Amino acid sequence: MTRFTVAIDGPAAAGKGTISKAVAAHFGFAHLDTGLLYRAVGAKVLAGGDPVASAKSLTEQDLQGNLRTQEVAEAASRVAVLPYVRAALFEFQREFAARDGGAVLDGRDIGTVICPDAQVKLYVTASAEVRAERRYLELTENSMDVTRADVLADVKARDKRDSERAEAPLKPADDAVIIDTSDLSIGDAVARAVSAIDARR
Ligand code: C5P
Repeated sequence: MTRFTVAIDGPAAAGKGTISKAVAAHFGFAHLDTGLLYRAVGAKVLAGGDPVASAKSLTEQDLQGNLRTQEVAEAASRVAVLPYVRAALFEFQREFAARDGGAVLDGRDIGTVICPDAQVKLYVTASAEVRAERRYLELTENSMDVTRADVLADVKARDKRDSERAEAPLKPADDAVIIDTSDLSIGDAVARAVSAIDARR
């Protein structure tokens, strides 16, 4: 097999990451969490960097730090509205998608902008309340001091910014398969993704 791209988009904490890792492992595809690119740029900006210069000079090492905090997520969604930041990250994502052996990319605009010709497009979503609860449990498990109300407010603020921005807004591609994980177990959500991919192979 040569190229085969799976694009997985959706709002924060819908289960994209879990599904992406599981399908990449199942099919032996490489996986790129594109949110990490924006988080790494956001973290650099929090440290005083310029957004565009930071996006242009990202290294592997920048993707290693503790990028899974609320503060970094917020900074990521702020830099993600900037067209020059998105442009600077475009080529890296395209090249990753075009690698031999198959690739899964997850993010907000993979099926719409980065890989509009992906063989499979999934849009993974869930209600804001369900997503906030999952994120709350994840953050408190990692000993972060947050309240449910704050996490729900953050999820809604990020949804709004991600969906209403002019550049590459969050929305399902016309030909995306929608997977609503609000009432699905992880196993069932992964099984739906696997069968959507199988159907196109
Ligand atoms: O997916 P994650 O929560 O790590 O993404 C952090 C932020 O990065 C998102 O809220 C969004 O603003 C931005 N992002 C994006 N396009 C992507 C991936 C993430 O704009 N493909």
